[in-house]
Amino acid sequence: MNSSDILVIGGGIAGLSAAAALSRHARVSVLEAEEQIGFHSSGRSATMLHYALGDRLVRALTLASRSFFDSPPEEFSDVPLGRRMPVLIHAREDERQALDELEGELSAFAALERLDATGVHELCPLLKDDALYGIADLNGIRLDPHALLQGNLRELRSRGSELHTGQRVAGIQHSARVWTVTSEAGGRFSAPILINAAGSWADQIAKLAGVAPLGLQPKRRTIITFDAPPGTNPEALPFAKTIGDELYFAPESGRLFASPMDEVPSEPCDAQPDELEVALAAYRMEERTTVQVKRIHSRWAGLRTFTPDRRPAVGFVPDAEGFFWLAGQGGFGLQTSPAMAAIAASLVVGSPWPVADVNPADVDPQRFMGQRN
Ligand SMILES: Cc1cc2nc3c(=O)[nH]c(=O)nc-3n(C[C@H](O)[C@H](O)[C@H](O)COP(=O)(O)OP(=O)(O)OC[C@H]3O[C@@H](n4cnc5c(N)ncnc54)[C@H](O)[C@@H]3O)c2cc1C
Repeated sequence: MNSSDILVIGGGIAGLSAAAALSRHARVSVLEAEEQIGFHSSGRSATMLHYALGDRLVRALTLASRSFFDSPPEEFSDVPLGRRMPVLIHAREDERQALDELEGELSAFAALERLDATGVHELCPLLKDDALYGIADLNGIRLDPHALLQGNLRELRSRGSELHTGQRVAGIQHSARVWTVTSEAGGRFSAPILINAAGSWADQIAKLAGVAPLGLQPKRRTIITFDAPPGTNPEALPFAKTIGDELYFAPESGRLFASPMDEVPSEPCDAQPDELEVALAAYRMEERTTVQVKRIHSRWAGLRTFTPDRRPAVGFVPDAEGFFWLAGQGGFGLQTSPAMAAIAASLVVGSPWPVADVNPADVDPQRFMGQRN
């Protein structure tokens, strides 16, 4: 039996960043089902930090995370955690009012530039002429999820905490104030505190532990990559997003990537791209830009897992002592991970509350009590 102070289920960005933060105060063991970390959502994201994602709470968590990405702790400093990439949100004539409203909402979080048609096309020459209005945040960050995952892993290991891969949790018992977890591989792990950071599987983990699920909904999102038009330098392009949730695209390793921003409900699984959404990505790229998607170079899909109110769930629940939720990171789990990890540490070990604009009640999983399935 492997004993520690805290067990974390899930070796994605949520579990590893919380474990790294907690390893300053306690001995933590992270259990990951796959052989590698970040195999599911954390390794399949669009990797942008921008404020058009989520609502006021998500924006506050993102803003609170920025200083971590801008000046990372020592364990993270061998490779940059990302690079500056402008974020452009563009609109056609009929979408102008929605752009005005978003500008009002985002201006508290980012220094925005309002762009006319000329400004939009200077920043992103690939857009069609009907992109007449835009707002730009020149200070967006294209995150490096590998550097982020590895940095968290290095930090937790340097403090004596552990990662156990290939340990798919299959049984969870609570007795005498200790959680005992068994894996399909025969591993046995115990701790008084159990953190459920199992991403799309977090409701299943709760059920294994005899805890009521939150009603999490994984939703599939698809990305394709393809060549930029001849003569275009992809790396000079911004992350460009329609004001509605239709399309985003950005540079990707010398090519372009695009997503139709699909949200297809799914069971927790190793998500695979569906031909319909792959075709939709190419169609919308050709509809909104002058690019012709002649050949799709690669495609992938991942799950974005939401709570019923699309805000994350972080905290203990009264029906199971020591059971802690860290779930529902939706489409913003990378960019909010430093703040979410600091919140988890504050609630678990009592370190100072880290985000002035967010209250514990905003993220408390107890808000779903009485409406769970
Ligand atoms: C296409 C796409 C685009 C995105 N774009 C962005 C973006 O631009 N910016 C942003 O910030 N976020 C983005 N996201 C969201 C972000 O990727 C997620 O919010 C984040 O990765 C969630 O992290 P996680 O650790 O909760 O989940 P995961 O990375 O899925 O980690 C959960 C882990 O738990 C493990 N697990 C499950 N069950 C068990 C078990 N029984 N035993 C042991 N381990 C188990 C899984 O194997 C998995 O590794 C995007 C996501 C997708 C799919």
